[in-house]
This record gives sequence, structure tokens and C-alpha cells, in this order.
Amino acid sequence: MAIRSVNPATGAVVQTFEPLGAAEIEQRLSRASATFAEYRRTTFAERAAWLLRAADLLDAERHDIAVTMTTEMGKTLRSAEAEAAKCAKGMRFYAEHAPAFLADEPLADPGVVGASRAFGRYQPLGVVLAVMPWNFPLWQVVRFAAPALMAGNVGLLKHASNVPQCALYLEDLFTRAGFPEGCFQTLLIGAGQVESVLRDPRVAAATVTGSEPAGQSVASICGQEIKKTVLELGGSDAFVVMPSADVERAAAVAVTARCQNNGQSCIAAKRFIVHEDVYDQFAQLFVEGMRALRVGDPMDPATDVGPLATEGGRADIEELLADAVKHGANVLCGGTAPSGPGWFFPPTVVGDITPDMRLHLEEAFGPLATLYRVPDIDAAVELANATSFGLGSNAWTTDPAEQERFIADLDAGAVFINGMVTSHPELPFGGVRRSGYGRELSAVGIREFCNLKTVWAG
Ligand code: NAP
Repeated sequence: MAIRSVNPATGAVVQTFEPLGAAEIEQRLSRASATFAEYRRTTFAERAAWLLRAADLLDAERHDIAVTMTTEMGKTLRSAEAEAAKCAKGMRFYAEHAPAFLADEPLADPGVVGASRAFGRYQPLGVVLAVMPWNFPLWQVVRFAAPALMAGNVGLLKHASNVPQCALYLEDLFTRAGFPEGCFQTLLIGAGQVESVLRDPRVAAATVTGSEPAGQSVASICGQEIKKTVLELGGSDAFVVMPSADVERAAAVAVTARCQNNGQSCIAAKRFIVHEDVYDQFAQLFVEGMRALRVGDPMDPATDVGPLATEGGRADIEELLADAVKHGANVLCGGTAPSGPGWFFPPTVVGDITPDMRLHLEEAFGPLATLYRVPDIDAAVELANATSFGLGSNAWTTDPAEQERFIADLDAGAVFINGMVTSHPELPFGGVRRSGYGRELSAVGIREFCNLKTVWAG
């Protein structure tokens, strides 16, 4: 795949980049490795000062970088600005909390293990390669980079090939903020060039946010090389609505939960599972809400849903929908892409889903919702778990016993009750099953790329 910016709202090629050659990759690996030897000895205070400076720069440049994000991958300018602001917040969070998250940890009563002192110390692993997706082109990277850099690791970014300008901006941002040269470098390389970087002995670990095939490939190479990985892969989150819920609110949030980021979020709610007592009311409000969204130019502040990021991404959605319709699904709104330039697709709700449809099993990475009617909570839980993924889950009920049941039985990395799944720097984020393993964000996330060294002193 060529490395190029293509405006999804018009289809116009904005800029094309030549992938790095072997000598350029070698130069960057060698710089990263040399930098780590020095950088690991810097203090939390020094790292925090650089990270806070990056946050300030990002705040000041929010509008300009948001325009770049929108131009490269089609998210609305409004949401791009919000993403940039969230990145600055995430940086400040780790600048403030990393020292406490990585403080020496008492491990045992020293006397019991025959020591005068016994504790754990978190130390950085080294050079970490981040393979990242285009859908949140800044946030996905920052939630890796901020904790990794605060922990004393050095980052290499292989960003998605359709967001090279965002990738270059991030390297430039960290450099201008004062991080030593080589602490955070962007590798403009294609997916086929990742293997040799992973196998390089100077690379200690890798993190992937993306599709299952990308995760499988990176994890199997790292398995052979005995290198730590974190995988943040796809999701097909359930959104369950029970009779005690505030149905109007649930339906309004459902629209946002499905269509945020033009429907291209791993934690977007994708399968809407509604108790039969409130199904008709929810379905009507949800479909009305989806229909009311304004699809169009992502630069226009009045737009709710911009284009899909790639032509292939839209074709995938159209194929999933066509297969469902062929097997008897009922399109309740949307369903047909407009003619004209750009990869637009309208918010779409599909009912009468059956297990033989691809849409029942696969992740729909666009504004396409499936709607299910269930008779009771057992059926709701069973259907919510009837997926190979396990990223987030949403459950709407005011009944404490039902809330407890969802918390206990939904197979997912997160359950949000009476709200939609969102990421926060303060909360662990990650999945189970084919959504991956490991966690980002919070204290847990910063420790993923650390060696917890056991210290025993007699
Ligand atoms: P993708 O094709 O897997 O791309 C993601 C990244 O992986 C890109 O940098 C891509 O490079 C690279 N890549 C692809 N195949 C690779 C391989 N075999 N070896 C090494 N690198 C490889 O994913 P996408 O379709 O663009 O992104 C959407 C997916 O990401 C969805 O499934 C979504 O749910 C998931 N996602 C998950 C999370 C989470 O936190 N769990 C967050 C956001 C998105 P190229 O661009 O050069 O191909």
C-alpha cells in the first residue's frame, strides 16, 4: 500500500510519500537504541517537563492539526479538535501520575523472605514499536507514547499508511517539546516492512492497535522473538437496553455510540440488543435519531457524519449490508451510498438479523447498526456474548440485580452501565478474546512496557 494522504471527502490525493529504505530504517533503529541508553537515566521531572510542553504545543496547534486529521481520514473537524484536546489531557495525566504509578512497590514483609529489603522496581523495556491505525490518528498514538516515554522507553511509530502527515506531526511535536532526539521517531513504512523491524534485536517490544490480521502477524513474529506485545484489536460491542432503562436517553446515546468518528471506532456500539417490552419505542427513537444525522463535508461544523476513511472501508460496509439483505435483513433507514465524490455512507439501521448473516458475526466499521429483539436478560447476555470479540459492552438498566448480572457475565474488557463506552486516561482500556490482550491507559497501561524487577537485599 502506498503511503499517501487521500482526502476521503473528495478522493483527491493530497500528498504522497516514499517509504523508508533499509538504510534509513537502520539509521533510525540505531538512533533509537543509542538514545535509550541515555534516556532511561533521565528523571521523571525531566520527562514530565517535556511531555507538558508537548501538551501545551498541541493545545496551541489544535486547530491546524485537526484540519490535517480531517483532510487525511475524514473525521469531522469538531471531533478532530476534541481528539487533539484529549491527547493534551492524556499527556498531562501521565506527566503528573507516572511517578506514583511507577514508584517502588513493597512486595512482601522482607523478614518472611529472609531479606532486609524486598521491593519491586519498574524499569523501562527499551525501544517499543507501535503499529497504529488511522481512526484516531493522534489519540491512538498518544495513549501509547505518553506512558511509554514517561516510563523511560523510546518509541518507534509505524502509523497507518493513509495518515502520514499525522505521523510526521507527532514526531515533530515530541522533538519540539524537547525530548532528546531519537526518543520518538516515525517510520514511514508499509505493513510489509514491519517484520524486519520487529526481529531487530534492538527492538524490545511491540504494541498493535488495528485489525485481527495485523495483530496475528505482529504477535506471531514477536512470539518467535520472545518479545512482549500488547494487542488492541477489533470489537463488536453490544448495547443492551432493558425495560427499566431511560429509553429516550438510551436511544439518543445509541446514535452517538454507533456514529462517533463516522462509525469507525473499535468501541463503537455495533449490536443493539433490546428487551421486547421496550423494543418498539427504542427502535423508533433510534431510527429517527440516525436519520436526523447530517452527513456531509467533515470541515463543516454542522456535519455529524463525514465520509468513511477509505474506499475499501466503504466497500466492506456495503458488502456486509448486501449479504444481510440477501439473507432477509430489513433495512430500517439508510443503506445506500450517495452518488458523487467521497466515500460517504449514511447512518443505517438493520433489523431481522439472523446468525447466517456475516453482519451478525463480523465487525461493521462504519455507521451501520444491527438491531435485535430479546425476551429476557438471559437471552440478552447470551446474544451479547455471541461474538468472537470482547472489547467493550454497554448495558442500560436501573435494576441493581440486572446491573450486577451484566457486570458479572458480559465477556468484555469493559462494561459501561447507563452510558456509552469511552476511553479515559484514568481507566484501563483493552479487550479479551479476539479483541486482544494487555491494557492501555491508567496505572496498568504504563506498566505494560516495564520490567517489574524484584529486588531482594539481605
Ligand atoms: P489494520 O489494517 O490492521 O491497520 C492498522 C495498522 O496495522 C496499520 O498501521 C497497518 O499498516 C498495520 N498493518 C496491517 N497489516 C499488518 C501486518 N500484517 N503486519 C504489520 N502491520 C500491519 O486496521 P484498520 O482496518 O486500518 O483499522 C481498523 C481496525 O482497528 C478495526 O478492527 C478496529 O476495531 C481496530 N481498532 C482497535 C482499537 C482498540 O483499541 N482495540 C482502536 C482502534 C481501532 P498499513 O496501513 O500500512 O496497512
